[in-house]
Parts: sequence; structure tokens; C-alpha cells
Amino acid sequence: MSSAKNPALERLAGTLGHPRLSPLRFGPVLLRSNGPGVFELLHVEDASTDPTRLAVVEVDALAVLATNDRQGRFRPNKASPDLVAGWICRPRDPESLGEALESLLPGGLSDWYAALDPALGVVSYREFADRQTGMYRNIASLSDPEACEVARACCDVRFCLRRRLWPVGEIGVDAAASKSDAPCLEPCALLLELARRAHRMSQEERSTLHLGETDLASIAVALDTAIAHPPSDLREGDLSNPAHPRRLLLLREKLLPWLPAPVRGKGE
Ligand code: SF4
Repeated sequence: MSSAKNPALERLAGTLGHPRLSPLRFGPVLLRSNGPGVFELLHVEDASTDPTRLAVVEVDALAVLATNDRQGRFRPNKASPDLVAGWICRPRDPESLGEALESLLPGGLSDWYAALDPALGVVSYREFADRQTGMYRNIASLSDPEACEVARACCDVRFCLRRRLWPVGEIGVDAAASKSDAPCLEPCALLLELARRAHRMSQEERSTLHLGETDLASIAVALDTAIAHPPSDLREGDLSNPAHPRRLLLLREKLLPWLPAPVRGKGE
């Protein structure tokens, strides 16, 4: 990858060299410049850690480092916060910087560069849903409020650090400060699968429950606890698991209108 032929890389290197614009966060990765042409990549959690306490990792080792989470489970979404921490990588030039980023967050650089264009064309939930076929075609049947519940559950900052720029229903897009500078330009495969399941659940026979505020508060707290402590063998891509944190958060989103005020906010 040559910076001379790659305007995205040139722009990134220039941005990192600018004291007011640097550092940047691409998902769980912090990018900063440590002098002209000197770049550093590390986990955002290590931003304040003395660099001498971090393990130095070469660019060609980053793809393996990003493959599994801290429990050794495969990371289908490279923007999830569960990237292993405790390392630092110092690409020697802009080309190596591009390679490093591509290993840690594939497509992150090109999406970031594309999103600098005010005329950027993002793919809304409706456009995305309307072009689905086969087992996913029914996600177009979700109402706007249902699609918003799916987006809030799937793209929550606890699960994904790309900032959602694609519109859905009435909810606004994510601010960079709340997640990172890496944009999300259209729904991903995880969102597609959660939307499919949400549609299937919406077709199930309904039950009627009568619960008071105290019971509802207990349910919200139980959900928050389960979301924060998923089973150790749960895989992020396995949305068939009823204990999947995104499914639990989707249930919480559905309960939101009935939750008492003290537990209405997400238990982050
Ligand atoms: S659709 Fe949501 S979960 Fe998927 S990459 Fe985009 S922001 Fe992340």
C-alpha cells in the first residue's frame, strides 16, 4: 500500500501529524503520532499506560492479535471493544501504518476517508432491508420502532465501537465522541441476523403479563447483569443463543416503555 497512490493514507498520516486532530480512535484502536512520520497504534484502554510497559508488536503480527478476544473466542466484528490490550505497534512509515490498520480494523481506513466527503452516500436501514432476499427478505417488514430497537441493541457501545452513520427510524446517528472515528456506513452481518431474529420473534404467539414496577426493575437489573457477564463460551456471532448480550439488550429495549425511571437507563 503506497501513500503516494493512496489519498486515504496520505490524509490519515497528515491528520495524525496535526496536534489538534490527533489522536484518532478506530474502533478499539488508538492511533497517534509520536514525532514526524512516527506512528503508534495501541488499545484505547492503554492510552495512559507507560509505553515501556506495553509489549511491542510488529505490523505482521497484528492480524493474529485481532483474531480472538481475551477469552480466545473468534471476533467476527473487529470493532468490538474486546480486542486484547497491553501492546503497542510502531509502523515505520505510512505504508506500514495502512497495513497495520487493515489488520486491526479491515475497511476502517477507506470508510473513514469516504466519510470525510459531505456528499457521502450511506445505506439506510430501509435501503438495506429492501435489497435482501431469501431468508433475510422479511427484515423489511420490521416497523421503524422495531428496526430502531434492533439498531440500539446491536450497535450499542458495549458491543461495537464503529459510529453508526446510516439512518434508521427516528434515532440519530452516533457521535464520534461516543464511540470512535471509524464510521459504519451500512448495517453489518450481525445486524442483519439480529433483525431476522427480531422479525421471527415478532411473529410468535404473544403472552400477556401483569407485572408491577418492582418486578420490572428486577428484570431490568437481571438483564443488565447478564449483558455485562455473558457465558464464557458464548460466541459473538452466535445469535441463536438466548443468552447473547445483543438479544438480551433487544429484550430490554422492548421493555423500555414500561421500566420505572431509576432503571430505564442502560446499566453500562
Ligand atoms: S451495523 Fe452496528 S454493530 Fe454492525 S458494524 Fe455497524 S455500528 Fe457496528
